Amino acid sequence: MISIDGSTDIYSIMFVSHAHADHIRYIESRAKIISSERTYDLASARRRLKAERFIPRNIELLPAGHILGSTQLLLHNYAMGLDIIYSGDFNLASNPVAEKIIIKEADVLIIDSTYYDPSIRFEDREDVYERIIEFVESKRDSFIVFRSYSLGKAQELIYIMNKAGIVPYVDSNIAKINEVYNKNGFCLRYQHIDLKDLEPNVIIYSKLNVDILKSYIKIRYNKDVYTAVATGMIYRYGLMRNDYGFGLSDHADFYQAIDYINSVNPRLILTYGNDKVKFARYLKAYGYNAIPFSEIYYSYLVADD
Ligand SMILES: [Zn+2]
Repeated sequence: MISIDGSTDIYSIMFVSHAHADHIRYIESRAKIISSERTYDLASARRRLKAERFIPRNIELLPAGHILGSTQLLLHNYAMGLDIIYSGDFNLASNPVAEKIIIKEADVLIIDSTYYDPSIRFEDREDVYERIIEFVESKRDSFIVFRSYSLGKAQELIYIMNKAGIVPYVDSNIAKINEVYNKNGFCLRYQHIDLKDLEPNVIIYSKLNVDILKSYIKIRYNKDVYTAVATGMIYRYGLMRNDYGFGLSDHADFYQAIDYINSVNPRLILTYGNDKVKFARYLKAYGYNAIPFSEIYYSYLVADD
């Protein structure tokens, strides 16, 4: 039996769809994991792994478009004659620092429910890039601190900055992840932040003390400092104490999820994640055969895999 992401530690083998923190829980104690090579490398940069990576003969990993190395799991249950896909976090919009999603058909789809809400619709990615570049160019004499996850969003922001000729400062967590990206053929240009010696520039920062950093820079360098964030979460929570916000998500919105479901063409959908009940309700309203994921249902589906 295979557990999916960090959902539970009751099974001996774990599928790791990607290396974001909430998906690599319990990973240190595992002897075996199923993941892409890139996810394994990224997880190793964040955690001490002793796990061996392997891919059983009845499993295919398909790129999910979410972050570098992210994959969906396609499980062929030969005993039941069923193909089952677990989407993991996925994104249909093309992201220059992730692999493009590949979609296959399956009988059962276990789908992530992060953006379950039809009232949220993401903007075109290129338009958001343009707005971010316009914003940083309008504040060239100031410091801009982007709060960011160290993996995925940070590298996309570096890519956007590099495109505008900017080489941003980053913290040590982000730098460690950047090394894995650059080993995989990306050419991210960045500088390690040294608080004693800063010029007005963009800082991409994953640590928690952004507000302290902001006051420190203001006092030491006597320049304006703005905080910004680039995430789909601004559609749900607003600016979240930042001065500026941009709707840039690594996830599919509800309408992308519908396109994805139509391409997978499943007979049954199990919605997965914190908002699985709400997502199932919306999908049912749109005419799909959807129910919230349950461990019992799942163990039945993959029992004889
Ligand atoms: Zn994720």
